[in-house]
Amino acid sequence: MKLVRFSLDPALPATVADSSPLVKYGVLEDESVWETDAVWSARTGARWPLSHVRLLPPCRPTKIVCVGRNYHEHARELDNPVPAEPLIFLKPPSALAAPGDPILLPRLSARVDHEGELGVVIGRRARHVSPEQAAEYILGYTCVNDVTARDLQKKDSQWTRAKGFDTFCPVGPWIVPRRELSAGQVRLRTWVNGALRQDASTAEMVFSIARILAHITAVMTLEPGDLVATGTPAGIGPLAPGDLVRVEIEGIGALENPVQAEPAG
Ligand code: ZN
Repeated sequence: MKLVRFSLDPALPATVADSSPLVKYGVLEDESVWETDAVWSARTGARWPLSHVRLLPPCRPTKIVCVGRNYHEHARELDNPVPAEPLIFLKPPSALAAPGDPILLPRLSARVDHEGELGVVIGRRARHVSPEQAAEYILGYTCVNDVTARDLQKKDSQWTRAKGFDTFCPVGPWIVPRRELSAGQVRLRTWVNGALRQDASTAEMVFSIARILAHITAVMTLEPGDLVATGTPAGIGPLAPGDLVRVEIEGIGALENPVQAEPAG
């Protein structure tokens, strides 16, 4: 099953609040979107062709929690040690971008990289969750691109600016429910203009999804709709205007976003 959040308004911003009457929920079957209630349980009977709707980020997180250096080979490619416990940081919800939305390269950075990642969407409020209980709090999985201004990440002593620009968090195109995916052992690939840049299994994560959720919820409450990006494998690389970047996860699908220079002004 593919859980979508969408609008019939093609111009609706990706950061639109969940309370907007223009935001709809649905399930995608073949090429049709069936409208549902806001928790994807009861269908309303309304249906549209996928080509007629604007897919939005499939969740509306109160926060986006990311894990740094969660694949050995990626830590190595940036000459970083693998941390002894999950290294977490935040991206703001204002960074969300929908499937197909442009990633805007900010004038403040000369080096913006893609980071394809498995996204975990929270289904129930979670606080002080043990690794053994963690799965019960997961709604499902999606694709995330943790877009990063690499030069600013190196320059700043923390990563808020490097990770926080508008459009630096494409997510989607939909959520696959937890029970339908063995998310700890799926193939994750990132392509730029058809060239394969990242290719790994989520089984190579340093810290498992369960361990990550336990670690995060020892610090903060995770709310339904919150998004956890579980780290990127090796193969990160720069993006240029005109590129098309595709994050594909086996059993989920592909998240594609064009890349553009930030407009002047
Ligand atoms: Zn990342």
